[in-house]
Amino acid sequence: MSDVDVIVIGAGPAGAAAAARLATLGRRVLVLERSHFPRFSIGESLLPQCMSHLEEAGLLETVIAADYQPKNGAAFTRNGHETAIDFREKFTPGWGTTFQVERADFDQRLIDAACAKGVEVRFGVSVEAFVADATRPTVTLRDETGETQTLSAGFVLDASGYGRVLARLEQLERDARLAPRSALFTHVQIRTDDPRHDREKILIGVHPQQPDIWYWLIPFRDGRASVGVVGDDATLAAAGDTPAACWQAWVDAEPRFAELLADAEPLRAVGELHGYSADVSRLHGPGYALLGNAGEFLDPVFSSGVTIALRSASLAAPLVDRVLDGETVDWEAAFERPLREGIETFRAFVDAWYDGRLQTIIFHDDAPAEIRARISAILAGYAWDRSNPFASASRRHIDTLAALCHLRRKTGDDSETQGVGT
Ligand SMILES: Cc1cc2nc3c(=O)[nH]c(=O)nc-3n(C[C@H](O)[C@H](O)[C@H](O)COP(=O)(O)OP(=O)(O)OC[C@H]3O[C@@H](n4cnc5c(N)ncnc54)[C@H](O)[C@@H]3O)c2cc1C
Repeated sequence: MSDVDVIVIGAGPAGAAAAARLATLGRRVLVLERSHFPRFSIGESLLPQCMSHLEEAGLLETVIAADYQPKNGAAFTRNGHETAIDFREKFTPGWGTTFQVERADFDQRLIDAACAKGVEVRFGVSVEAFVADATRPTVTLRDETGETQTLSAGFVLDASGYGRVLARLEQLERDARLAPRSALFTHVQIRTDDPRHDREKILIGVHPQQPDIWYWLIPFRDGRASVGVVGDDATLAAAGDTPAACWQAWVDAEPRFAELLADAEPLRAVGELHGYSADVSRLHGPGYALLGNAGEFLDPVFSSGVTIALRSASLAAPLVDRVLDGETVDWEAAFERPLREGIETFRAFVDAWYDGRLQTIIFHDDAPAEIRARISAILAGYAWDRSNPFASASRRHIDTLAALCHLRRKTGDDSETQGVGT
């Protein structure tokens, strides 16, 4: 494609959604993707908020047609104590269900659907250099034969995820303000007919003695599932000589995971990711903006990554369209500030998970329904709903609620939790 309007770096969910939306708006879009699809990616449990962003990008139909494992909430287990949050009982209006997806297939479908809308994709090309320019930014790519090529466009969207292309090239990287953690994960075939195992929920487990070590079990169709463990690097690695041995030792240490996975058959080698939390000093510059993980990534615990990626694409695409029409766009006010608002809500929840306040809240079974509904809305991805006090003043409301749950646990009196969060 010659003379493109927009270059998108990366064909993951953020890149595919932005490209699809811009193509629908009549823009000529070229996506440059380093790998070849289908390719494995982590990030398999979606949040209901994703659904409206997929719809805005014109990609919802293709996702529904894929017949993925439905998801309606999150179940939690700690020391034999089990509880669950149902997204359909959330405070914020909108989708209350979504899917658990194998990303190789999901990402392939999204980019195929974007291509059907007129997007061009080049696989096997890596973006290596960039020159910012308010009217004609340029990127230099290298293909697999080693050939380089420089291309320009009216705007560049960086959706390169962990590649973090513009964060590096434009020196935007900054401290993520989260302790560095690692994950060990694989796919398994589960052999269980345990009626307590709710396949429509992600299962989050907490290590019985070390509450900052936690687990995920994300069921897919056909009895397959993604199973991972998260913790600080040295602690995770101390459990065995190989990633597979460590993964197995940690799974065996959590009673519910050990029970569910007793006869599980591994379907792929155990993968590992280290120090994935990342942030940038700004999400935009002359002729470019950063989407999804190419900008900020917090932590996997509440499965917020794809939701944030899709929301960033939803916010950015119409703004790029206006830039291409010659309008002046205030990217700070129209993109960065609103996007970061919801990310900060997730950050408050992530911080509270690791310091124990959120675990106290989640495992406190007697919270009034309206409070659970407000928490459920955030965990369903509606972190941008400012009418929810747990979004607009997250830290204050988490603090108060955690303190009351703690008090209630000690005294057995639930009268004081009644007014929280209203
Ligand atoms: C352990 C762990 C578990 C997670 N679990 C979940 C979960 O359950 N749910 C959830 O929503 N999120 C989860 N996430 C987060 C999720 O993986 C990401 O947030 C999500 O994939 C981001 O999408 P993206 O489109 O921004 O980037 P990506 O999906 O990473 O896509 C970026 C694309 O850019 C390409 N690329 C990179 N560099 C270049 C380059 N130089 N040139 C061209 N192309 C390039 C890559 O090949 C890739 O295809 C998890 C993350 C971790 C670390």
